Amino acid sequence: MALSFISTSGHAPPVSFLEAMRTGLAPDGGLYMPSHIPMPKPGFWKDLSRYPFTEIAYNLAKPWLEGELSESKLLSVAEDAFNFELKLVPLAGNQYVLELFHGPTLAFKDFGARFMARLFSEIADREEKTVNILVATSGDTGSAVAHGFYKVPGVKVFLLYPKGKVSRLQEMQMATLGENVTTLEVDGVFDDCQALVKQAFTDSGLQSSMQLSSANSINVARLLPQSFYYGWAAGQLMKEGVEPPVFCVPSGNFGNLTGGLLAERMGLPVHRFIAATNRNAVVPVFLNGGEYRPAPSVQTLSNAMDVGNPSNFVRIRHLFGMDDHEIRKQIRGYSYSDAQTRSAMETLFRQQNYLACPHTAVGLRAAAEYQKEEQNGHPVVTLATAHPVKFRDVIEPVTGKEIPVPERLQQWLNREKKSIPIRNSYSDFSELLHESRERNEV
Ligand SMILES: *Cc1c(COP(=O)(O)O)cnc(C)c1O
Repeated sequence: MALSFISTSGHAPPVSFLEAMRTGLAPDGGLYMPSHIPMPKPGFWKDLSRYPFTEIAYNLAKPWLEGELSESKLLSVAEDAFNFELKLVPLAGNQYVLELFHGPTLAFKDFGARFMARLFSEIADREEKTVNILVATSGDTGSAVAHGFYKVPGVKVFLLYPKGKVSRLQEMQMATLGENVTTLEVDGVFDDCQALVKQAFTDSGLQSSMQLSSANSINVARLLPQSFYYGWAAGQLMKEGVEPPVFCVPSGNFGNLTGGLLAERMGLPVHRFIAATNRNAVVPVFLNGGEYRPAPSVQTLSNAMDVGNPSNFVRIRHLFGMDDHEIRKQIRGYSYSDAQTRSAMETLFRQQNYLACPHTAVGLRAAAEYQKEEQNGHPVVTLATAHPVKFRDVIEPVTGKEIPVPERLQQWLNREKKSIPIRNSYSDFSELLHESRERNEV
């Protein structure tokens, strides 16, 4: 029997994993979650340290996709999606950095996007209509999704990004591909892009004429793979015989952290989580006893975390049965200004010769502060979400160290930008989607 997925809003019929992936957002506007958290095979966690990453991925995903994809297909999806390395780097003072940025677009989003794209290509031949994937991006999601889905048959991708608010490298990585990837440069901020996408999903006229899906972190197929690396890191630490770790997650839409919470529910040995944000501190404010009050996002150095209304927070509440007290016990929250982020980058480099992107620096600063407060002997593992080279404009003046651009990145900067500028207007956006459908049918 396939595992069933229900909406956090509670008014949508249950569906299977692949159906939840194909739809993206549930029809009642909620996010899909499994009706219960399925466990990996008995003995899996005990033997964790013996498994390579792809086998951890396979074992954790298997019960989610039971009856929907054969075991051999699932294994090949995992092997093909995760064909790059990840590293657990020790720092001073019982701290570690889990480097998740060694994939093709140099951000952790490659894990989610590549896994999801391969599942889409598995089901593409079962579909009659083209699936149109709409994605609002503040930079890294766009490039990871664009690359993951590039030339996948039966799928068209529309990326919306805020004009002038993503780095040049991020922009060029997504906007120069073409083919089945259309990029829209929106005259607005990230939240505007997200709002346009959300509106498309509730537009019944559009929904009835084209098959829409989302590759934002609201998609359950991006969420699941974001649980795998927590398992891998815990396995590496088991070899060293240390206490169960605390995971510190630089957060924006909170998909990454939700992936960790799912891993914990599947049995991952973990002590606690830390949510680290920039000045967009809606969740840390809540975690420190305040009310949960979404706010317009403000622009910061760690731009992939500039989110004022984190879409996955509803999932976290759902996982904890709406028990805010329990959430605050299990997740600590910290937030930092740009000045504090810069000083964290500078200190890390000067004292430990470690170059961190601004997102990772926010996390490492939170990890250090947590450890000073708690002193409880649990190692703290901070997730490094982007490669420093993607943010060299920020890092170089702070550290005084030049970061060379690898050849394979340089090539993007020399390509032709193909994005289409649009106003922050839903009618413009929907018109463009309708036109693309008509072109498709000619
Ligand atoms: C997307 C992103 C984040 C935030 O991840 P969420 O899952 O949205 O919380 C952090 N850092 C980088 C570099 C990112 O690309």
